[in-house]
Amino acid sequence: MALPADFAQHVKSAADIVRVIGETVTLKKSGSNHIGLCPFHQEKTPSFSVHATRQFYYCFGCGAKGDVFRFVMEMEKVPFPEAVRRVAQRAGIPVPAYATADEAATPEARLRKALEEVHERALAFYRKQLQSAEAAPVRELIRQRGVTDESVQGFGLGYAPTSGDALANFLSREGLAANVLEASGLVLRRDTGGYFDRFRGRWMFPITNETGKTIAFAGRALGSDQPKYLNSPETPLYTKSRVLYNLSRAREAIRKAGAALLVEGYMDAIAAWQAGIENVIASCGTSLTEPQVHLLTRCAPEVIVSYDPDSAGVAATDRSLGLLLEGGMSVRILRLPGALDPDQYVRQFGAEAYKARLTEAQPVFRYLATRALELHGTASPEAKLAAVNFVLPFVARVPNKLIRAELAADIAQKIDVSTGLVWEAFRKAALDRREQMQAPATGSRIPNAEAMLIRLLLDSEEACKDIGNRLENKGLLEELEGRTIVSALLGMIAGGSIPDVASLADRLDESQQRLLAAVVFDNEARPVSFGEINTYILALDRKRVQRQRLSLQHKIQAAQKSQDSQLAIELLREQNELDKELAKLL
Ligand SMILES: [Zn+2]
Repeated sequence: MALPADFAQHVKSAADIVRVIGETVTLKKSGSNHIGLCPFHQEKTPSFSVHATRQFYYCFGCGAKGDVFRFVMEMEKVPFPEAVRRVAQRAGIPVPAYATADEAATPEARLRKALEEVHERALAFYRKQLQSAEAAPVRELIRQRGVTDESVQGFGLGYAPTSGDALANFLSREGLAANVLEASGLVLRRDTGGYFDRFRGRWMFPITNETGKTIAFAGRALGSDQPKYLNSPETPLYTKSRVLYNLSRAREAIRKAGAALLVEGYMDAIAAWQAGIENVIASCGTSLTEPQVHLLTRCAPEVIVSYDPDSAGVAATDRSLGLLLEGGMSVRILRLPGALDPDQYVRQFGAEAYKARLTEAQPVFRYLATRALELHGTASPEAKLAAVNFVLPFVARVPNKLIRAELAADIAQKIDVSTGLVWEAFRKAALDRREQMQAPATGSRIPNAEAMLIRLLLDSEEACKDIGNRLENKGLLEELEGRTIVSALLGMIAGGSIPDVASLADRLDESQQRLLAAVVFDNEARPVSFGEINTYILALDRKRVQRQRLSLQHKIQAAQKSQDSQLAIELLREQNELDKELAKLL
């Protein structure tokens, strides 16, 4: 349920960011700032800074940044509205009644309940339709794909008729309210009134939550219809990124085995299940999400990833691995030969062959080292460094230091850097959880006067307009080293938004964010007066004129040398004008 738009702004200005962050991070006062150990990366000396009045935090180590809401969102893994609620509660600000977390009585909770019922009825409907005459081609497809009757029952497979409104009519007859039907996403409202079915002429796969309740569907096209798989939209019941297909059925087996088999698609999961691998789950998306990893870590310490061997599958594997490692999971990778996905492999070579392959799944870092070698080779020192840098981000995500040290030694041996300078650098980077040898940032500070200008622009709304105009009209932005920051700031002001550090940082690249943070958290900074900035802008203007004058002088000399007196006179006149302008500025 949404909160009023200005509620967040109200909460933000009333909340004490230092107190909220202080609940998770031990903060020490340092001048006008507060600093502590960054909760977003591993460190021994504090580089995490919080600014109370500017409502902004920034880590000089990893670049994490934002306002109080962002912090709660990241730390507590909640969406924005929930972060607003939590901050409001901590600040003692009454949250509008309809937005309280007490689900039992809320309309949202009632809607969820009704949606569960819609899905239960829809499930029964689709399953029954699978027996209809119209569904003969699906039954044939099911047979061809080797899906057993037992699986059809167990996975609740069904069929959505082509008529266009069969489900809509069925659910209406069942007396379910129109608004609930619409919220389920299973039926859509027609412009001309009435409803029609989202899924038409598709093979249906119910998607369940952890407790086994159906919360969404996926429909597979029968012919060449696109998309091949159509999913329910996100609803109050269903968030795609938070669901693992088959988890409710696989959970017990995962617990017993201490490991889960992670595959990509619905058919892969069914094929593995039929092969007797009951601890199988599918991500049903190109790559795993953080909430999915969280679900997994609660079930077992180990996961075997068996994604498609095509290039998309490989990329998805790489992305997913980072998350799994960060979750502290032990990971193995199964690479199937040829271009077969698990479903095809089982159909071609049988269940036993797939099971045998599973036992050969490689530990993740052996897999990564192999990939690094395939990508870069070890022909030159540069190639070795590139290979090492390919693996390093993954090593950096392993939480345990001892394991990182062991991994580093293993990988180094495989990439053939177990001695020498590269090895030393690699070992150190692995221990420090560094992702890459980063190129040092150029220009780590912006000049003091410019810093004062930025602070004044952030502080004083009325000063902004005037200063902005003068800087822009005279082309003075070009004179600034921090021009990207200043022009982003002026852009925000011109666009009518209140200049605020967190949103300003969002408009900058990482190196600029760092410069901005240095300005914001500068402990030597003192209050800036408008007069000072005025003087500064005059100085900038002088600098601009002097520069123009200098280039003019070169031109004059050149004109005199080539005896072009006409041009020389013209240029001297210009110089005269500049001198007058300069005199005014002094
Ligand atoms: Zn950090």
